[in-house]
Amino acid sequence: MAWDFETEPEFQKKLDWIDEFLDTEVDPVTQLGVGYAGVKSKAYQKAIRPLQAKVKAQGLWACHLGPELGGQGYGQVKLALMNERLGRVGLAPVVFGCQAPDTGNAEIIAHYGTPEQKEKYLWPLLNNEITSGYSMTEPQGGSDPLGFTTSAVLDGNEWAINGEKWFTSGARNAEVLVVYAVTDPDHKDPYKRMSMFLVPRKTPGVEVVRYVGVGTERRGSEGYMRYTDVRVPYDALLGERGAAFAIGQTRLGGGRVHHAMRTVGQCKKALDLMCKRAVSRTTRTGRIADYQMVQEQIADSWIALEQFRLLVLQTAWRIDKYKDYRKVRKDIAAVKVAMPKVYHDIASAAMHLHGALGVSNEMPFTQMLLGSMVMGIADGPTEVHKVTVAKQVLRDYRPDNDLFPSYHLPKLREAAEDRYPDIAAELKAQWETHAESIDAL
Ligand SMILES: Cc1cc2nc3c(=O)[nH]c(=O)nc-3n(C[C@H](O)[C@H](O)[C@H](O)COP(=O)(O)OP(=O)(O)OC[C@H]3O[C@@H](n4cnc5c(N)ncnc54)[C@H](O)[C@@H]3O)c2cc1C
Repeated sequence: MAWDFETEPEFQKKLDWIDEFLDTEVDPVTQLGVGYAGVKSKAYQKAIRPLQAKVKAQGLWACHLGPELGGQGYGQVKLALMNERLGRVGLAPVVFGCQAPDTGNAEIIAHYGTPEQKEKYLWPLLNNEITSGYSMTEPQGGSDPLGFTTSAVLDGNEWAINGEKWFTSGARNAEVLVVYAVTDPDHKDPYKRMSMFLVPRKTPGVEVVRYVGVGTERRGSEGYMRYTDVRVPYDALLGERGAAFAIGQTRLGGGRVHHAMRTVGQCKKALDLMCKRAVSRTTRTGRIADYQMVQEQIADSWIALEQFRLLVLQTAWRIDKYKDYRKVRKDIAAVKVAMPKVYHDIASAAMHLHGALGVSNEMPFTQMLLGSMVMGIADGPTEVHKVTVAKQVLRDYRPDNDLFPSYHLPKLREAAEDRYPDIAAELKAQWETHAESIDAL
């Protein structure tokens, strides 16, 4: 019977190496803020490249990929165990070659790209020589992709792209943008109206209106993009014409669960900080850890994290088992729904137990809380994913034909009595005797 929660000892050694490496080498570089510098900057070359070399030497580079793409082919469960560590440290995904949005973009280029597109973008992306952006969401709405208006019109052998997109993460340093545009507005299948394009960032007509920051960020990095008569050749199309929606689903499925794996790491970090504070901080009567209401917050946080982590790991296991994201849509949507709430609740308890220090900019909790809100919006809002879960759950149910449900107790009892008439008669006789004796009292 295969039902095992143990980590293989050999892989555990790698996880232990990751823990140590993150604390001693990656976290300090994260605190420097090197992440804002592009891959070609001196700071990046000096600080990040040597760390990436160490990861490669350990055989831990780009573990989300199979060996044919330079990854390790570990599968999603091992990736989940790695990602819950990488999630604790800002720059860790960059150092380990699995940073969004490049991971997802590389994945779709690997699946749908032409040999020329792979040559030009895939390998440089996988080697982190260049970075990319994913330009899907529009200022007028992102949850409903059928409402997108950015268009690509064929003019001879060129596409002319016009429209606005925003929240194109990483647009600042991106070499290439994956752009969603409507190519077939009258297609009878609304899901086949959009196509995906690979647009070099420096193409004339690609303009950044401004960089939008998240929360109180002073230096935003979410590109508000304007595409004005952007001309790209016919073969800038990624995949088939009209396939943007289908390709996007492949990409986002993996991305959502990888975010969840890293969120486990953030929640664990918040819980660790909370517990450390609880045993360190004292009031007149002793440690705050000894107050029952503090213990309640710690217990609730630990339980919520364990439940969430098991859901994430089970989802990862199912992805490995079925090797088809469509078969795990419910699980991925459920993980996506659970993620912002668990993250929010644990970060908020951790913040609260730190008192004034907790709400200050000297601890990471405000960022975590904002991060939890982002997790409820980015890659689709919670409501949309709840609908997916509910629809998938409901698929297993057929309507009752009777007025009363099939699990209606009188009906069940009647069926049981028909099936076991002797026992039913005996019980009835016993009950009548019992009722008579009660009446006689
Ligand atoms: C930090 C960050 C990074 C991002 N990075 C990228 C990126 O790199 N590329 C990219 O293309 N996009 C990116 N996004 C955008 C993200 O995908 C969208 O924000 C998301 O799809 C929601 O779209 P919206 O913001 O337009 O919200 P809207 O569509 O305006 O929705 C607003 C609210 O309306 C409600 N709502 C909407 N639809 C439904 C429904 N069907 N049922 C019930 N309620 C509903 C929900 O409460 C929802 O939160 C990013 C967003 C953030 C916050």
